[in-house]
Amino acid sequence: MIAELEHIQMIYQSAEGEVEALRDVSFGVEEGEFVSLVGPSGCGKSTLLTILAGLEPPTAGRVTLFGEDVTAPSGRIGFMPQKDQLFPWRSIWGNVTLGLEIRGDRDGAGRQRARELLEQYDLADFAKSPPGRLSGGMRQRCALIRTLVTDPGVLLLDEPFSALDCQTRLTVASDIGSIIRQQSKTALLVTHDISEAISLSDRIVVLTARPATVRNIHTLDAELRALSPAARRVHPAFAPLFTEIGKELGLDG
Ligand code: ADP
Ligand code: MG
Repeated sequence: MIAELEHIQMIYQSAEGEVEALRDVSFGVEEGEFVSLVGPSGCGKSTLLTILAGLEPPTAGRVTLFGEDVTAPSGRIGFMPQKDQLFPWRSIWGNVTLGLEIRGDRDGAGRQRARELLEQYDLADFAKSPPGRLSGGMRQRCALIRTLVTDPGVLLLDEPFSALDCQTRLTVASDIGSIIRQQSKTALLVTHDISEAISLSDRIVVLTARPATVRNIHTLDAELRALSPAARRVHPAFAPLFTEIGKELGLDG
């Protein structure tokens, strides 16, 4: 396991008293795996990612990354948030190399990787442009490249497509999913979109309402996993799995 959560509990102190966000959550992510986390809004999904990223310690339980206990933020984690958070006053190049600047990319390997990724994913012509010139999908690609240039061991994606309209959402999600696979990255994606989870993942962890606990874990059939996101959506196994996860989430119909 590249990342592992064991019996995680998280209790927040708030003005109204204690809020239990997570209760006894256990699951792991293997190297090269694409895992999605689905659960009702407010159940504790983002909380789980912040714990994995080492941004806050859990109240109880154990978190390990690359076999070591997580006690502080790890440089081996790449985080892609809900909004792309590109800086409008920096060029695309300035945005994708931001993490390298902060770290001090002394040997230039990161800058070389940035050039290659922009080239490979059709953004090289926009290197000098501000993000305002890009479509929503291109902005997401740019945000992913910024995350990839530091060569993280694990990508954490917190509902990265939810700010997009449903027309572009599907294509952007497939686009981002295929880049992650091409780059052989391990990924943990938070989403409330069951279709997105089925079309992108190897495994899907279904969480209950708050306090979140693991309701079920679905490993997708090898046959489904071998298909592209678009091909998965028309595969006969798609609809039954969608319905099953919908039921587990308490959605009707
Ligand atoms: P999700 O990402 O699944 O929508 P979150 O992980 O953001 O849910 O939040 C889970 C619960 O924990 C919510 O009830 C939220 O209000 C609460 N929560 C999250 N962060 C904090 C915090 N820093 N302090 C107090 N409560 C918090
Ligand atoms: Mg969230």
